[in-house]
Amino acid sequence: MPHQRLSPELIQLPAGWLPALFRGAKSTCPRCGEAALFRKWLKPVDRCEHCKQDWSVQQADDFPAYIGIFVVGHLLAPVVIAMISGGVSAWLTLAIILPVAVVLLLTTLQPVKGAVIAFLWWQGIGAFKQERREDNLEP
Ligand SMILES: [Zn+2]
Repeated sequence: MPHQRLSPELIQLPAGWLPALFRGAKSTCPRCGEAALFRKWLKPVDRCEHCKQDWSVQQADDFPAYIGIFVVGHLLAPVVIAMISGGVSAWLTLAIILPVAVVLLLTTLQPVKGAVIAFLWWQGIGAFKQERREDNLEP
């Protein structure tokens, strides 16, 4: 069958949830680590070219954006406070921080979405089937 997933014995499943997240954050397939996870910027492939894992069932939805906003907001909040308390005008602070925030959000969105998809797959959430290496069978 052309769409049959490669069995876990034929691919290198990640050793744990952290390596799976790193594979997703690198925009590679969290299951095999061999092929691209995204066909466009935030559009995952329907199926991994290498291991045939079905990624069309992922339901990351808006969660990557929430994580990105949370992280970028916490990174920039001290900078804004320091600029305002250091005497920089509010308009200049806004003019500097706004483009920085947009660039940071746009650059972190794909790695965060890849990590979220990897987490969903690793935990077997939604339509994903939970898989583990034979030497790592704890949940
Ligand atoms: Zn794969």
